[in-house]
Amino acid sequence: MRLHTKTLVFFSILMGSLVLVLGAISLYSFQRFSLYTAERHARSVADSVKVGLTESMVNGTIGKRPQFLDRLATVPGVESVRVVRGPAVTQQFGPGFANERPADASDIRVLTHGEAIFNVVEKKNGPVFRAIIPYTATSQGLPHCLQCHAVNEGTVLGAISIDIPQGEVKRQAIFATAIISLSVFLVALLMLLALGRLLRPLMDTADAVSHVVNDAVRGSFSGRVKQHSSDEVGEIAGNVNRLMEFLDEHLTTIGRRVGDLMGQHQQSAGNQLVATTEMVESLVEASQFKQAIEEDQNKHEVYMRLGNMLSEKYDFSLFSIYEVASSKNRMLPIVVDGEMNAPCRWCDQQILIDAGACRAKRTGHEVNAVDFPGLCTMFRDDGKEEKHTHICLPIIQSGTVGCVVQMVIPADQAQLARLLVPYIAVYLRETAPVLEGKRLMEHLKESSLRDAMTGLYNRRFLEEYVTPLVATNQRRQSVFSILMLDLDYFKQVNDTFGHEAGDKVLKALADILQKSVRSSDMLVRYGGEEFVIVLVDTSAEMALQVAEKIRAKVEETKIPLPGTVLQKTISIGVAEFPTDADTFWQVIKYADVALYEAKSRGRNRVERFTPDMWKETGESY
Ligand code: GH3
Ligand code: MG
Ligand code: MG
Repeated sequence: MRLHTKTLVFFSILMGSLVLVLGAISLYSFQRFSLYTAERHARSVADSVKVGLTESMVNGTIGKRPQFLDRLATVPGVESVRVVRGPAVTQQFGPGFANERPADASDIRVLTHGEAIFNVVEKKNGPVFRAIIPYTATSQGLPHCLQCHAVNEGTVLGAISIDIPQGEVKRQAIFATAIISLSVFLVALLMLLALGRLLRPLMDTADAVSHVVNDAVRGSFSGRVKQHSSDEVGEIAGNVNRLMEFLDEHLTTIGRRVGDLMGQHQQSAGNQLVATTEMVESLVEASQFKQAIEEDQNKHEVYMRLGNMLSEKYDFSLFSIYEVASSKNRMLPIVVDGEMNAPCRWCDQQILIDAGACRAKRTGHEVNAVDFPGLCTMFRDDGKEEKHTHICLPIIQSGTVGCVVQMVIPADQAQLARLLVPYIAVYLRETAPVLEGKRLMEHLKESSLRDAMTGLYNRRFLEEYVTPLVATNQRRQSVFSILMLDLDYFKQVNDTFGHEAGDKVLKALADILQKSVRSSDMLVRYGGEEFVIVLVDTSAEMALQVAEKIRAKVEETKIPLPGTVLQKTISIGVAEFPTDADTFWQVIKYADVALYEAKSRGRNRVERFTPDMWKETGESY
């Protein structure tokens, strides 16, 4: 029940009770008063009767007492007066008139005990106050009773029975009570109305505060409470308004700022407070995500974590993460549908060799095919039965697109999924600098391990690679072979055609070598024009064939130089790990010994290391 109703009901009950109690008290008081008045009236009449009868006795007119009593009954307020003769008088003077004999038990009781009886009896004309008052013999005054009556002092001579009508008194009492009750009722009504008016501003303020607070809970702080007065109620309204203004100003600013951070501006629909909270939570999570990826060992872990975020947090099972190759205009699929280094599935293969074909890469903007179907012509829906659409987000690194994240969305979930884009964009923004740092580090490391001129690995790489190489080989109980290669009479090239021509020859050789080995084999520029090839899982026997193939290829290759064409030969030494020696560097040394042997046996040859070579050359080497 509302406070207004409650107060009015309470007040009504209070006033109703007051009217009832007042009415009851009034009625009771009137009754007491009228009985008291009637008793006094009856006693006066009784005294008059006594005096009248005494006078009649003295004057000898006692026989005319009925007339006297009838006259007395005409006095207003008296209905009848009757004398009841007591036994002593009856004994002395006879029974008297018929109506002077005791009429009922009350008369007899009064005559017997000498005590007055007062009561109200109901008659057909209304209530009547009946008083039966005894008169007793006394020797006081002159004349006195004992002069005529042969009785003792105090003997009950008789009683005077007087009926006083109460009907009119009762009516007057009821009327007065009604007037009082009505007056109280009217006053209560007026007070109730006044109270209602007094409570109205309080109720209106309470209603308004409730509305404003409900709106605030729903995220709208623009509501205000109307100030009806300058009292405490008005103060409440003022304070609520101040609070709302404060919340409106600050929470709106927070919402706007958070929206700026998210790159998303709140729609007017929906609870802005909840939306802001969600955005803040998402920013916090993204920041935690950033901390986690900062500690990741390499960029592949970061890509994997990004993929997990898409699949586990945002429920995208179909997606691609592409890396844009920094120097070449190529896109590399890194994670596809949660799988590392999987082939490109959701785009035309064109983008792999021409990154500009990818719209997100080219524009650096979100490509939203949910809102603009067919926006990117490179999208290929690989879904078998289900139809898909896509949203692609670029990851900007140092002002250019470093990666592209493509979310592939079943068509029926597209509208829901697009709402997640701002949240995912926050993650990508946090990821961008970390990923860039890791890519840069890996690039630096890679370039420090490569020879700038030929693009082959350098000696440092070999030094770093040895430990895992040997460990893997031991674990697999396998063998690998080492080729040590050196161009024959290379110095002559430099001397005859200049250093630049020499470099060209080295590059041509690197090219031949690269084409002659598997991608799992390791090709290293070991020194000036010396190369090492590690052929994994390859015996010396097999390695000899590879070496021979290389030797023949080098021999037949014509290297064009300005003004001439050059043909060079190469000598190759072969050794096997761990057959020839149980340390890697010893096997390298043996391959070099075999190379030395090839040189000394006339060059343009392949030689397999044998222990006797070491004996022969060991000392001088
Ligand atoms: P051989 O190996 O057949 O005994 O004779 P060689 O003339 O090839 O002799 P050696 O292997 O000792 O010669 C190495 C030469 O390679 C010395 C150096 O001038 C040249 N060289 C080393 N590094 C480079 C390089 O980066 N560019 C050029 N142009 N020449 C290089
Ligand atoms: Mg050399
Ligand atoms: Mg040489």
